[in-house]
Amino acid sequence: MQTLSRPSNPDSNLGSTLRPDIRALQAELVSWRRSLHQRPELGFQETLTAQFIGDRLQAWGIDHHAEIATTGLVAVIAGTGTSANRPVLAIRADMDGLPVQELNDVPYRSVHPGKMHACGHDGHVAIALGTAKYLSEHRDRFAGTVKIIFQPAEEGPGGAQPMIDAGVLANPDVDALVGLHIWNNLPLGTLGVRSGPMMAATEFFHCTLQGRGGHGAIPQQTVDAVVVGAQVVNALQTIVARNIDPLKSAVVTVGEFQAGTAVNVIADSAYLSGTVRYFDPDYGELLPRRIEQVIAGVCAAHGATYELDYQRLYPPVINDQVIADLVRSVALSVVETPVGVVPECQTMGGEDVSFFLQSVPGCYFFLGSANAAKGLDYPHHHPRFDFDETVLGVGVETFVRVVEKFCQVAE
Ligand SMILES: [Zn+2]
Ligand SMILES: [Zn+2]
Repeated sequence: MQTLSRPSNPDSNLGSTLRPDIRALQAELVSWRRSLHQRPELGFQETLTAQFIGDRLQAWGIDHHAEIATTGLVAVIAGTGTSANRPVLAIRADMDGLPVQELNDVPYRSVHPGKMHACGHDGHVAIALGTAKYLSEHRDRFAGTVKIIFQPAEEGPGGAQPMIDAGVLANPDVDALVGLHIWNNLPLGTLGVRSGPMMAATEFFHCTLQGRGGHGAIPQQTVDAVVVGAQVVNALQTIVARNIDPLKSAVVTVGEFQAGTAVNVIADSAYLSGTVRYFDPDYGELLPRRIEQVIAGVCAAHGATYELDYQRLYPPVINDQVIADLVRSVALSVVETPVGVVPECQTMGGEDVSFFLQSVPGCYFFLGSANAAKGLDYPHHHPRFDFDETVLGVGVETFVRVVEKFCQVAE
């Protein structure tokens, strides 16, 4: 069970817990977020978004590289503080929208038909920009280097691995990485963090079952693909129930089942697709193996055949204990009374920040953004998704304090 270290109160004057220089950024953060919100772009098509980011980094005199993995950018901010080691911390922000038609009636509603920032990545870019601006104006407050990674295509097919392949974690080599997701599953003024598995591996499967169609009244001449498919769907439910340790977690969801064409025709084939989620990397071998065994076994029992395409999208997001402890301690100092930290926060949702966290130690965390009193609590990916923009300053303050702690200036 998740418990708050302090009772939450989204109506509290959260902004007043921020340092004055970051509180002063709030109006700009909101205006950037709203500009980005109006012009959402899908994965690897974020050209306007990249231009928006690049223009600001240029204006603030921040070294940066654009067109990485198509539309990604990296800003490099060197601290002038001294320390024995030269720590390099990366901050990751994703920048893509979703193929969703926005239903919000707000002045900053999406002007791109069928596209919407329905996950909050517009807020992530605004927070990362605010962090870049603040750090570039306060370079004496940290030592070493901060790299800010603006990553395309988190919603798919995934921009993290292409950015790693393009070398964003090298030269100088990144020691640790942090990232956040604005999170409407938590109230504004809370922050969800844990060490170890935070988000699940995300995998998909597509399966065509081939039977033999025929007349609805003459079943003995057929192999009924509807019957085979129904038994496959049922049998797949036993994998989580009977093959997974009850103290661990996994999901096998069949999201699509299409078969049949007419009332008096036995279906020739059926199509199933689904998604698989788990935290424990050991299940990466077990789950696809059991899924294929179940499908093959049911098909063999009925004389059907199958074709299975199993796709691994993202590995689980696994946080490093040391960096997670650092984020937690910072969070407790940023989000002051009457808000708190939600420990052991976890979701079966997936995130390709996992590829970064497989390469370097780090921590991905959730920044509570829901405000039910203002109607700002629709789920992520909903056509009415929106969040309390107070969270933007809290995000900047959190990142800046993580930088000041990880890249601490020697006394
Ligand atoms: Zn999303
Ligand atoms: Zn997202």
